[in-house]
Amino acid sequence: MRLPRRTLTLLTAPVRSASSVPAGVLSFVPACSTTDAHSLELLQDFVSRARRLFVITGAGLSTESGIPDYRSEGVGLYARTDRRPMQHAEFIRSAKSRQRYWARNFLGWPQFSSHQPNSAHKTLRRWEERGKLHWLVTQNVDALHSKAGQKGLTELHGCTHRVTCLGCGAISAREELQARFVALNPVWRAQAGGVAPDGDVFIEDEQVQTFRVPSCENCGGILKPEVTFFGDTVNRETVQFVHDRLSESDAVLVVGSSLQVYSGYRFLMAAGDRKMPIAILNIGPTRADHLAELKVSGRCGEVLSVINPL
Ligand SMILES: [Zn+2]
Repeated sequence: MRLPRRTLTLLTAPVRSASSVPAGVLSFVPACSTTDAHSLELLQDFVSRARRLFVITGAGLSTESGIPDYRSEGVGLYARTDRRPMQHAEFIRSAKSRQRYWARNFLGWPQFSSHQPNSAHKTLRRWEERGKLHWLVTQNVDALHSKAGQKGLTELHGCTHRVTCLGCGAISAREELQARFVALNPVWRAQAGGVAPDGDVFIEDEQVQTFRVPSCENCGGILKPEVTFFGDTVNRETVQFVHDRLSESDAVLVVGSSLQVYSGYRFLMAAGDRKMPIAILNIGPTRADHLAELKVSGRCGEVLSVINPL
């Protein structure tokens, strides 16, 4: 049964005074008021009522691991720089664009691949172990849920830790490609700048021009990260698979996503059609706010860690 949506008031008195976010990564987390006790009670009630929770996560979860998101006001990549994420058609069409993409990605990889799951990822894994969480869908491509040990997981937009060949479809580990980059570019030097959500970094065009990009060892085809670039679509089987997991669930919790991208939002529309209870934990407005019975503003790790999954 659908409960009426509650309007929440943020109180000035903080529930928790100490931040669980390590110093140094705070700059990627948008500013927000500390979540009030009443919101936490309502979220606790929501989670307690759910038996088979369907969770969908986004970039807001990974900002607490030090990975910037694209859209957050003031701190997201759109706000801080004039760079835009790689477009699928451009990657396919342009060898120069692929060279630029891989050169930056090569430089960013050691740092990007070293990010670790934060307390939000770990909490969601514990909820799975306790049988509360039925399925987790993430829009993130940073592998942090799998690093946290999540089993029932769909990486909706793929994962930067895998590489696919556009010729033969072979999947390989990104780490192996890094070794091939090093072997092909023994004296290549460049200074890395800031790291973007997809592992991209900022370097000069002239540095890019001498970077050598390997092709598929099986067929000579073009190598691409196994991620859905902007302008591409999630394959039909994956979408149907997630709809099936949603239909087995009894409540939906959105964590750290504004749901601006349709590929994730469509599952909220489906949940709305089924009259499933929906709660959203996110800093700032989301596209699905009108579908949710509960909206909580706060840092994912801090809020989730005080919720009892039983
Ligand atoms: Zn191939």
